[in-house]
Amino acid sequence: MPEEVLKRAQHELLDWQGRGCSVMEISHRSDAYVALAQSAERKLRQLMNISDDYAVLFCHGSATHQFSMIPLNLLPETGKADYLNTGIWSDKAVKEAKRFGAVNEIKALVNQNGQFTVTEPASWNLTDNAAYFHYCPNETIGGVEFSDIPVRGRTLVADMSSCILSKPIDVNQFGLIYAGAQKNIGPAGMTITIIRKDLMGKARPQTPVLFDYQVLADNASMYNTPPTWAWYLADLVFDWLLEQGGVPAMAVHNAEKARKLYACIDGNPFYRNPIDPKFRSRMNVPFVLADESLNTKFLAESEQAGLLALAGHRSVGGMRASIYNAMPMAGVDALIAFMTDFAQRHG
Ligand code: PMP
Repeated sequence: MPEEVLKRAQHELLDWQGRGCSVMEISHRSDAYVALAQSAERKLRQLMNISDDYAVLFCHGSATHQFSMIPLNLLPETGKADYLNTGIWSDKAVKEAKRFGAVNEIKALVNQNGQFTVTEPASWNLTDNAAYFHYCPNETIGGVEFSDIPVRGRTLVADMSSCILSKPIDVNQFGLIYAGAQKNIGPAGMTITIIRKDLMGKARPQTPVLFDYQVLADNASMYNTPPTWAWYLADLVFDWLLEQGGVPAMAVHNAEKARKLYACIDGNPFYRNPIDPKFRSRMNVPFVLADESLNTKFLAESEQAGLLALAGHRSVGGMRASIYNAMPMAGVDALIAFMTDFAQRHG
C-alpha cells in the first residue's frame, strides 16, 4: 500500500468526511457510500480507459473465487475453453475450470538450458470456437510475465492479480480481466472484474447468486453488503495513482525499478534469476543465491535491515522481491545495497 494512502486512511479512520464515524460504520446504501463507490469506479475507468462496453464489478473474495466464477459464467456445458498454463496460478485456474467443463490445457512453460521460458504461440494447439482463452499475464510466484498479449482475435480472459495498473493495457482486447485487490489495488478480500457486457447473462442455472456477474452488474456490486473498507481503500489508491501521473507514470517507474534489480542480479555471480529475460516480471523478481545454504542467513539479515517478505513462495523456495506499484525506488535501492553488501561479505 502507498504510505500516503495508509496515512490518509489513518487520518480518516474515526471521522470520515466530518461525519464523526468511520466509513466502515455507515450503511453501504447511504448516499455518501454510494457516491464513494461510484467515484472509485469512475477513477478506475479513467486510469484504465475502460469504455461503456464493459462493466466494472467490485466482487467479494479472492482471485481464486474467480477461478470458479469464470467457467460458471462463460463456459457453456457443451463448450470448451483454452487455458494457458505458465505457472502456479494459471495451473490453479485450470484445475478449477476442469471441475466445470471441458478445458484444453496448453502447458507453455518450459525449461530451456536452465532458464524458464514460454513456448511460441504458433505451437499452441488452440480450440476452434473456444468459449474463451484464459491466461495469467504475470505469474506472481514464478516471476514470468508477458510483455504483450500472446494471442488475438479470441475472447481473452486474464488474471491480472499481480500486474493490474502497472502499465497501460488496451482493455478492448479482453473479454474479462480480473485482479485480486491485494497487490496493486488495496487490501485482500475484494477482487475487481472488468467484463465485456455481452459476455454476461449466460451463467449456468446452478450458479450461486453472488457468483453471477450479471447479478453483480445489475446491482452495482451491491446485491449484498460489499467489502466496504476494501472498496474505500481502493478509491484512495486510485486517487494516489492519478496524483502520480496515472498508469503511464507507473509503467516508467516500474520498468526502472525492475531494470535496476535485474542488473544487480545479473551483475553478481552470487545471485541468479531463472527466467528468460524476454519473460521476466517487472512486479515479482525471484532470485536464488549461488550458495543456498546461506538462504536463512540472507532472510534473517535482510529482515533486520528492514527489508521484509523476501522469502520465495513456500512451493518454490529461494527469494522473491515483489516490487508492486507502491514500492518506492528507495525500497529497491535499499534492497540492492543490501544484496551487494551481503554478497561481498559472503562471496
Ligand atoms: N492469481 C494470481 C496471479 C495471484 O498472484 C494470486 C495470489 N497471489 C491469486 C491468483 C490468488 O489470489 P487470492 O489469494 O486472492 O485467491
